[in-house]
Amino acid sequence: MTDQTPIRLKSYLSGEWQAGSSDGKELRDAATGEVVALIDAAGLDMGEALDHGRQAGAKLRAMSFHERALMLKALGQELMAQKDDFHALSLATGATPKDGWVDIEGGIGTMLGYASKARRELPNTRVLTEGDVEPLARDGSFSAQHILTPLQGVAVHINAYNFPCWGMLEKLAPTLIAGMSAIVKPASQTAYLTELMVRRIIATGLLPEGALQLICGSVGDLLDHMTGQDVVTFTGSASTGQKLRTHPAIIANATRFTMEADSLNASILGPDATPGTPEFDLFIREVAAEMTVKAGQKCTAIRRAFIPRAQVLAVRDALAERLAKLPAGLPGDAGTRMGALSSLDQREEVRARIRDLQADAEIVIGDPAQVTTLTGDPDRGAFLNPVVLYCDRPGAAQAVHDVEAFGPVATLMPYDDLDQAVALTHRGKGSLVASVFTDDPRVAEAAVLGIAPFHGRVLIGNRASAKTSTGHGSPLYMLTHGGPGRAGGGEELGGIRGVKHFMQRTAVQGTPRLLSAVTGRWTEGADTRADTHPFRKSLADLRIGDQLVTGTRQVTLDDIEHFANFTGDTFYAHMDEDAARANPFFEGRVAHGYLIVSFAAGLFVQPDPGPVLANYGVDNLRFLTPVNPGDTLGVRLTCKEINPREGADYGEVRWDCQVTNQKEEVVAQYDVLTMVAKTWPQAQPAA
Ligand code: NDP
Repeated sequence: MTDQTPIRLKSYLSGEWQAGSSDGKELRDAATGEVVALIDAAGLDMGEALDHGRQAGAKLRAMSFHERALMLKALGQELMAQKDDFHALSLATGATPKDGWVDIEGGIGTMLGYASKARRELPNTRVLTEGDVEPLARDGSFSAQHILTPLQGVAVHINAYNFPCWGMLEKLAPTLIAGMSAIVKPASQTAYLTELMVRRIIATGLLPEGALQLICGSVGDLLDHMTGQDVVTFTGSASTGQKLRTHPAIIANATRFTMEADSLNASILGPDATPGTPEFDLFIREVAAEMTVKAGQKCTAIRRAFIPRAQVLAVRDALAERLAKLPAGLPGDAGTRMGALSSLDQREEVRARIRDLQADAEIVIGDPAQVTTLTGDPDRGAFLNPVVLYCDRPGAAQAVHDVEAFGPVATLMPYDDLDQAVALTHRGKGSLVASVFTDDPRVAEAAVLGIAPFHGRVLIGNRASAKTSTGHGSPLYMLTHGGPGRAGGGEELGGIRGVKHFMQRTAVQGTPRLLSAVTGRWTEGADTRADTHPFRKSLADLRIGDQLVTGTRQVTLDDIEHFANFTGDTFYAHMDEDAARANPFFEGRVAHGYLIVSFAAGLFVQPDPGPVLANYGVDNLRFLTPVNPGDTLGVRLTCKEINPREGADYGEVRWDCQVTNQKEEVVAQYDVLTMVAKTWPQAQPAA
């Protein structure tokens, strides 16, 4: 950043890049102290921006889940191609390239992960159904289905300074997949990196205008305009979070508010993990990594390490040795293993919190007053070497369970038995994550069940996953991120769960025919159509409710014996009349369930080459009534759901398959999953 004119950050609101009315506050390079950027959003019209975002929501809602996912995939790929530019600016935040990888590639990877998960797990529709249809009348004329539809407001994401890219993208991806527009407000200190990324996103032209807006600076009166259709997510300090959560407009309108705040995350060294075991070494590595990655400025970092009393000295010595190999320095320099805190003010803040911790604990590694760096000026850059404290009587202590020093700081605490260790984790009053390092299944069970109610995520570390573990501190897009109590009580990510946070769940009651029209899914009792064999129809012709009622087939004892000998499944219930009769469920020899499924396929398939390309599985298979020799089977196959695949010449079709016997009893019920061509015969490539 040397000798460069500071960037005047702008907000992207109502379709324009806008500067605030004042000169702006100076934002300094965390490691050199040079002014990087000026930030201000005074005087910008937040009400107008919210209206603009709400209108953009309509454009997103008109798209299907798969269309939104493909939009995110293209966006993620564009951003990944520009990652070097983000990395260059990321150094100014004090982040090393490795730290930057977590923020930049980690954030873009989260977006790409959502793009792929949404296409795999969500239908290609604009409405999501949840759970089974609930029958509400004996005659089948009235039932209910839970559906989810996108909220029609704006998701306001207020983010922390420590992950300027990931913090935005991990919230933006599920928001856009859900079909909601967003306004991102990055923390001022590192907003220049978020601003660069938003500039690049807007420049791609991939998002509908208004789907993403940005505030660089104070939010002004934004929250005064919140409605019940808006969502606010907050990551940062508990005090700001509490203030925003109780904002009058948020309370009056019951605006959804998700909070992720301070967290005194714990790690337990198992009683079995003595020095010399792989688990002991892993624990040391993990605590050291959590203290030094992002200079310990991670909401998931280990703040409290619980250790069997007999291992305290061994842990302290091993940790000291490990931390000595992780020197601080200018983030871009080759020898640097730990970058700087985000600002000199933040360093003073961390020093003050260390003093608070000293009420209960003594410093055993490091000295907050003395900073040594490989490169960089400790007076101008916000460097701080790791500080490890030791609290001998954690049960009687308070500060070590209350005070979060948001930097390279952790406290070691002894425990005498596992129950005590578990009870001590609870003293953090709810955290994002905890870990336990053990190779003993009994320790794993007792520790995890004991700490789980107080945590959003728990990691078990041992030798078998030493190389593959993603680590204590890494939130993953497919896993829930958030914790109860002090951690804010919020929940983010968790795969498709995170998408639902931006949608309204509604129980819709009605007659099956009309429910089916709402959800785009066939349900029992809805209209059916029986003309051509549905396997002769491409997606161009196939409709929900297209149905085939097959002929029948009798199951003989010879069939059962043939199937048994052919497959090797000679289970007694199929082969031995007396043994089968002794079984409480059967009245004699029964047909194999898989024989029923096979006969059903034999009844419903149309054998000629046609638009049905493959059968890729069955879902929810249940055998409901035993089939005895002499019973006659018939099948009713109904097209239940059609998902055309974007960018491909086929789609997935789900068929409701019901197999009945001569008494009209349902013997088997399942969904058959097939791939079906969009057109048939398929267009031949030009010669
Ligand atoms: P803050 O709570 O001050 O800020 C978090 C976000 O809220 C920032 O974007 C900030 O913007 C914004 N904000 C602050 N006041 C308001 C307001 N009145 N209305 C709307 N938005 C507001 O936290 P900091 O970033 O300063 O960090 C302070 C402490 O929080 C850290 O030392 C650490 O203990 C904790 N923290 C926890 C994190 C976690 O993930 N759990 C992450 C980061 C920090 P602006 O920057 O412009 O003030």
